[in-house]
Amino acid sequence: MSTRIARRLEGLVQSDIRRMTRECVRVGGLNLGQGICDLPTPPPVARGAIEAIEARKATYSLPEGVRELRVAIARKLASQNGLDVDPDREIAVTVGASGAFTAAIHALLDPGDGILILEPYYGYHLNASIVAGLEPHYAELTPPDFAVTEELLRAAVRPNTRAVVVCTPSNPSGKMWTRAELAALARVAREHDLLVVTDEIYEDIRYDGREHVSPATVEDLGERTVTILGLSKTFSITGWRLGYAVASEERIRAITLVTDLFYVCAPTPLQHGVAAGFGMPAKFFDDLRADYARKREVLCTALDAAGMNPVWPEGAYYVLADVGHLGHATARDAALALLADTKVAAVPGSAFYRGATGERLLRFCYAMEDAVVDEAARRLRAWRPTPVSAPSRGA
Ligand code: GLN
Repeated sequence: MSTRIARRLEGLVQSDIRRMTRECVRVGGLNLGQGICDLPTPPPVARGAIEAIEARKATYSLPEGVRELRVAIARKLASQNGLDVDPDREIAVTVGASGAFTAAIHALLDPGDGILILEPYYGYHLNASIVAGLEPHYAELTPPDFAVTEELLRAAVRPNTRAVVVCTPSNPSGKMWTRAELAALARVAREHDLLVVTDEIYEDIRYDGREHVSPATVEDLGERTVTILGLSKTFSITGWRLGYAVASEERIRAITLVTDLFYVCAPTPLQHGVAAGFGMPAKFFDDLRADYARKREVLCTALDAAGMNPVWPEGAYYVLADVGHLGHATARDAALALLADTKVAAVPGSAFYRGATGERLLRFCYAMEDAVVDEAARRLRAWRPTPVSAPSRGA
């Protein structure tokens, strides 16, 4: 029997984010590719989950999540994000922020609807949209500030555009949207009646005193926004798969329905564990930022010294660096050459762009123990890339 794969998956393959992890494991390298966030889990969070398992909190939770966690989330949203939400009606706990994104686009959009995605993008936003039958529309942002303007957004909107994705702080660029940029978005969204789907999973990781602005707090964006947040990065628990969506009661009802149908619920004992993390003192968050600021400094100065012209991120824990001068035909070739020579893995920029721009870039992730980041930085500084020979004519 011939194997039939759904047409929606045509042309989609496993992301280079994951592919580079496999390549890295194969050579026993340092993985600065996939954002695995290999750092210790805060003890109260780990203990909370262990206690929940020991207390046999092992069965399904409500599809919208454990109430104690939703109450903790609502309190946090009020004090830190400036969002006043009802924990019983306006929050759905999801299987990671990715689960929130998937549930939101399936719950609120129809096949054939257009979704505006800004380049460089997180490939899962794009590919999950394609699998949901949506039509991606694009606008490319330009380094170093990746500025968003009303003109740029307006030029990218097509007659069937129904939604726009805002990832702030951004994976992979580290860009953080300013209030002025969000106000520009609010005007365009109002004019074209767009749904705004955010991804704010890196909200707690930011530099130089920058403030995270939740898009739903700007002008009337709250009415048209699904705010997506999560715990993976703040508590270094990317494998726990816990996120949440915040929106109006009607939208959350639809998102909860899809979460129930796709996943039944997020992992129950882990929801209890993470609820304990909401009581972490302010010092925990300050230390988290100071720790990442140090890692950013080490890696970016090494990339600078290696001539790769990194774009210092404003937030999140990735940095895009330029390897165009090395002469590789593709970013994948450049990533494989770097891995072969130094045993440091990075993700090819083509994972975040459709066209040529990504082919000169690599993304490095520094959410690793200091010793790993320091050693990777040392290897990058010492790297003497073999020049890529120009294709010989007539050969
Ligand atoms: N968000 C992480 C990254 O961008 C991990 C993604 C993944 O493994 N799918 O690397």
